[in-house]
Amino acid sequence: MSMVNNDASRSRLRIAIQKSGRLTDDTEKLFKNCGIKINESRDHLLAHVENLPIDILRVRDDDIPGLVMDHVVDWGIVGQNVLEETMMQRKVDGMPTGFREVMKLNYGDCRLSVAIPQEKEWHGLADLEGCKIATTYPFLLKRKLSEQGINFKPVLLTGSVEVAPRAGLADAICDLVCTGATLQANGLREVDTIYESKAVLIGRDQDLFPEKQAIADLIIPRLKGVMAARESKYIMMNAPKAMLQQIKAILPGAENPSIIELEGETDRVALHVVSREKLFWETMEQLKALGASSILVVPIEKMLD
Ligand code: ATP
Ligand code: ZN
Repeated sequence: MSMVNNDASRSRLRIAIQKSGRLTDDTEKLFKNCGIKINESRDHLLAHVENLPIDILRVRDDDIPGLVMDHVVDWGIVGQNVLEETMMQRKVDGMPTGFREVMKLNYGDCRLSVAIPQEKEWHGLADLEGCKIATTYPFLLKRKLSEQGINFKPVLLTGSVEVAPRAGLADAICDLVCTGATLQANGLREVDTIYESKAVLIGRDQDLFPEKQAIADLIIPRLKGVMAARESKYIMMNAPKAMLQQIKAILPGAENPSIIELEGETDRVALHVVSREKLFWETMEQLKALGASSILVVPIEKMLD
């Protein structure tokens, strides 16, 4: 199968996503909410999107930065940790490292942390001088430690990094953490965070063919709209006219509310507003204390500014 030179490579936007892993569900959900319908089977390397000129390439996350940098795909979704690590590796290998960040995504949050056996003392990163550290991210770790003049011996592991100290392979580890439960279960404690990561949408560092650019221009506002919607709420309530100023003042991140007459009422109105922030119970209780009633907080599915 020629992936590089055919009509589809000119006219269909090709996006690489993780085949199966921690980014997969959120990516597929995001695409679905953007109206990108990927056909079901996860077994196929290349999935055709039926309703839009887009092809989805399902691969290991580690391959995604390279596919973008080698211009095999137009876009890719990957964790910043993998992106930066791959970039440093490719620089050393003399391979191209160009890409454009299309946008940061609101999922895939994790941190790359140093962890040591529970019982060991810790005074700071300098304790790692001369230590063996097991990690999948030797470049990110080296960048951080050499900033502080610390030398270490990397032990490269691509999985089960957290068992390395117990197995006598390393003195410490540097691994991705979300909740910390895995570390605890392995008798380790997190002592320092060296990098914070989230998922990003990246694109090749070269202008797209006009047909593809047109698809990108259609999809980017949809992606932004879905993410903005996820963080926003539609708030409705009935409120005394006399209290509108005070009520507006405590609504978090709200744009100008719509004020709607209530039939048969002269001193009360309905107030509708889109809030870009979370509305806490405490705020709702304050609103009620100011005379608001029937307070509703409703999720928003899509937004287009
Ligand atoms: P693949 O088989 O595609 O190589 P993988 O096992 O290397 O998968 P995953 O564990 O699925 O990768 O993680 C993919 C990415 O998800 C990570 O590189 C990171 O950016 C992000 N991520 C989010 N939360 C976590 C977490 N709690 N632990 C590890 N990675 C996380
Ligand atoms: Zn991987």
